[in-house]
Amino acid sequence: MAKQQEPAPTILPRDQHSISRKQIDEDTLKVLYRLHRHGQLAYLVGGSVRDLLLGRKPKDFDIGTDATPARVRRLFRNCFLVGKRFRLAHIRFAGNKLIEVATFRRHPSEDELPEDPDEHFHFVQNVFGSPREDAFRRDFTINALFYNIADFSIIDHVGGLQDLRDRRIRVIGDPLVRFEEDPVRMLRALEFAARLDFRLDQTILEGIAEKKEWIATAAPARIREEILELFRHQVAGPVLKQCRELGVLPHLLAGYRGTDESIELLAKIDNRTASGIAVEESFAIAAMFLRRYMDNCPPSPDVPISEALHKANEIIIPHCRYFSIAQGIRHQARELLVGCFRLARGRGIRGERRFLQHPLTPKSFELFNLWAEVRPDLAPLTKEWQKAIKSPAPQKDITRRPRRKRRKKTTRQQAKPAPRK
Ligand code: ATP
Ligand code: MG
Repeated sequence: MAKQQEPAPTILPRDQHSISRKQIDEDTLKVLYRLHRHGQLAYLVGGSVRDLLLGRKPKDFDIGTDATPARVRRLFRNCFLVGKRFRLAHIRFAGNKLIEVATFRRHPSEDELPEDPDEHFHFVQNVFGSPREDAFRRDFTINALFYNIADFSIIDHVGGLQDLRDRRIRVIGDPLVRFEEDPVRMLRALEFAARLDFRLDQTILEGIAEKKEWIATAAPARIREEILELFRHQVAGPVLKQCRELGVLPHLLAGYRGTDESIELLAKIDNRTASGIAVEESFAIAAMFLRRYMDNCPPSPDVPISEALHKANEIIIPHCRYFSIAQGIRHQARELLVGCFRLARGRGIRGERRFLQHPLTPKSFELFNLWAEVRPDLAPLTKEWQKAIKSPAPQKDITRRPRRKRRKKTTRQQAKPAPRK
């Protein structure tokens, strides 16, 4: 089939940009060079080019090529193909390191689509294309730049270089069309703007305002992953705040209200992550729902723990069911909430000794401390608990079981008569 002449991209030669091979991971370079030596196009693609141009350290280095996955497998002994939906080559290096090599793809035209609509999604993701077509199927212009190992130039088909200079997030193509194809892009736009401190193009803001309810149609697993990305990149506070302001929140996280206090708590967690403490999903969930939980179950010595557990379940379970979150994480999130409930009631209430020995109590206390940074009225309570939680309970306070064992031992040693057992 005769191909139309493609418009030429903007090419930034090596001496006009800042990316040096020294900044690129060694094994990634090896893969790029090997593809190139075998006559294939070999580009660094996606977030790594963006981050390097911004002087940031990329999270990972992805490679784009015109070699088919089968060809990549033939070229690399340490390669295996993965993915049902999106065929990818993974090249394995020492220490379980994986480098992802994807064949350039394009959007198929309507008449190319299979008859069965259920097959569309799979099909759409696996039609090979030219580098230009590959750039155009990406989400934002700044995410569609290529670094060409053949001459170390940057290739820009979509105007991403100018948007990087202008510090602007712009959708490739019409935002409404691209959001309809994949509503998760709305959330990604907010995420990248917050992560990079870029402004959102007006068309993105308008698109989100107009079609925010589309986000509810995205696969829950993908939303869950993007929410976790917000926490990993320390932008959960600002992005969820913006989601609230743009009216996205009810469609994104049905049970989460995003009150000022809750958003402030998430921002505290972002700061904590920035200081190098990874955030666990259970911790993130408990933090999101803490305020709502405390409203539903105000801390009081009169409320039995069984009720506190029940109220925590009422909030956590629908969220975890919707996002298919594993039982273990759900359980931990619930325990963290109930831990905060106990902490908020103050000291000296029945069951305190046992609570202090619970393995999740230090984590609950961490969450409680962050909450107290937002709610200064809780500060005296954190002081009261501090000593008890930091210093482990004295030996004599350990649970009854070991004591019984000790007694048994003595009994045996002294050869006491049988009836006592
Ligand atoms: P980081 O890995 O630092 O979070 P990234 O830009 O590498 O950022 P990924 O989620 O790893 O983001 O995706 C890699 C690339 O794949 C993106 O840069 C983008 O070009 C493309 N991409 C990812 N998600 C989408 C999407 N929903 N629609 C279109 N293109 C996407
Ligand atoms: Mg990436």
